[in-house]
Amino acid sequence: MSFDFPLSHSQLASLAAQFPTPFYLYDEAAIRSTVRYFYQSFSIFPKFREYFAVKALPNPYILKILESEGCGGDCSSLPELLLCEKSGITGRRIMFTSNDTPAQEFVQAARLGAIINLDDITHIDFLKEALGGTLPDTICFRYNPGPLKKGGNAIIGKPEEAKYGLTKPQMLEAYRRCKAEGVRHFGIHTMVASNELNPDFFADTARLVFELALEVQKECGVNIEFADLGGGVGIPYRAGQERVDLAYVAREIKKLYDALIVPAGLDPMEICLECGRPVTGPHGWLITRAIHTKSIYREYIGVDASMADLMRPGMYGAYHEITVSGKENEPKSCVYDVSGSLCENCDKFAIQRELPEIAVGDLLIIHDAGAHGRAMGFNYNGKLRAGEILLRSDGSFKEIRRRETVEDYFATLDFSGLDNFS
Ligand SMILES: *Cc1c(COP(=O)(O)O)cnc(C)c1O
Repeated sequence: MSFDFPLSHSQLASLAAQFPTPFYLYDEAAIRSTVRYFYQSFSIFPKFREYFAVKALPNPYILKILESEGCGGDCSSLPELLLCEKSGITGRRIMFTSNDTPAQEFVQAARLGAIINLDDITHIDFLKEALGGTLPDTICFRYNPGPLKKGGNAIIGKPEEAKYGLTKPQMLEAYRRCKAEGVRHFGIHTMVASNELNPDFFADTARLVFELALEVQKECGVNIEFADLGGGVGIPYRAGQERVDLAYVAREIKKLYDALIVPAGLDPMEICLECGRPVTGPHGWLITRAIHTKSIYREYIGVDASMADLMRPGMYGAYHEITVSGKENEPKSCVYDVSGSLCENCDKFAIQRELPEIAVGDLLIIHDAGAHGRAMGFNYNGKLRAGEILLRSDGSFKEIRRRETVEDYFATLDFSGLDNFS
C-alpha cells in the first residue's frame, strides 16, 4: 500500500490557500474506479447491486456520483432517506436497514418505495401499524447467526453479543407470517463484520445466508429473491496490509451460489452489498496544517483539525497514515504525537509516530479518511467541523460542503429569550 495522494505539493498548497485548512478532499475518479471494480468483480452473478452505506459519507454530490455508477443507498435514518431522495436515489435503489426504528422513519421509507429490512420479529406488527394496516410488497429480514458465526470481529463484536437481527427460529417464523399476510417478495440480510480484511470471511458469511435461504424455502415455502451480504469489507489503513481481493471474494461466493442456490431453483437471486468504507475510504483525506510545535515529555505537533473532524483515532485508537506534503521523501527522523485542540487527551491523530521533521505551516495529509470521517464528526468543545472538497475527474475542484460557522453552531439556540429570562 503506497498511500496514494492525487495532488502535488504545489497543487495542495494552492488549494489550501483558497480553502483554509482543515478540509476533507475526495477524489472522484478514484471513487468511480473503485465502484467499477465492485461491479466488475460481481458481474459473474446474474444480478448484483451495491447499496452504498450513506452513513460513511453523507454528501449529495458523492451520492450522485455513486448513483451514476449504478449504486443504491443503504440508509438507517430519516435524514439519510431524504438525502438519498434529494440525490436521485429512490424506490428499490434504497435499502432501509435500521434498528430500534421510529414509526415515522418506516413511513418515509415506504413512501420512497425503499426496500425495508426488518431488524426484529416484533417489527412486523410495528411496521404494519405504522403503515396503516398493510405490509409492503417486499420485505427483508436481518439475520443474526449468533454463535453459528465463529470468530467475531473487532468493531462489531461477536454476533451473539450484537443487538442486531433475528435468531434463526425467528427468521423462519417471520417469513411464514409475512407470507400469510400477503407479502410477495422477500430478501435476506446479514452484516456480521466491520473493517474485515480476511477475504474468506465473506464467503463464509454467504454460506450461512444461502443455507438459511434454502431452509426458508423448505420450511416456509418462500423463495428468497435477493441476498444482502452487508458491508464490512475492510481497507488497508496500515502499510503492509492488502486490500480485499473482491474478484476472489465474488468467485468464492459464486461457487456457493452454484452449489446451493442454483439447484434449489432460486436462480437468479440478486446479490447485494452495502459497503461504505472500501468505496470512499481510501479516496478521502483530511488536510490539516501544523500550527504549533511543543516540546515537553514528548514532542507534539499541534494541528488545526481535531478529533471533532475525525474521531476514529481518538475513539477506537484507529490507525491513519499521515504524510507531510512536500516531505514524502525525507527521512522519518522524528517521533511525534500529532494532536488536536480538544480538551481531551485522546485527541491525537498519531501517537509516538515516526515522521519527517515538521515545521509550523506544514500541510499534513491524514489518509483513508473518506469513510466514517467527516460523517462521525461532532461539535464538542464548540468545534466547528471541516468542509469537503471534491477533486473532479477533470482535475477541477468543487466545494461540496462548506466548513461550519459559529452561526451553524448557534442555529438551535434562541438568544432572544434571554432578555426576559431570570
Ligand atoms: C455501517 C453499516 C454498513 C457499512 O459498513 P462499512 O464498514 O462502511 O462498509 C452497511 N450496512 C449496515 C447495516 C451498517 O450498519
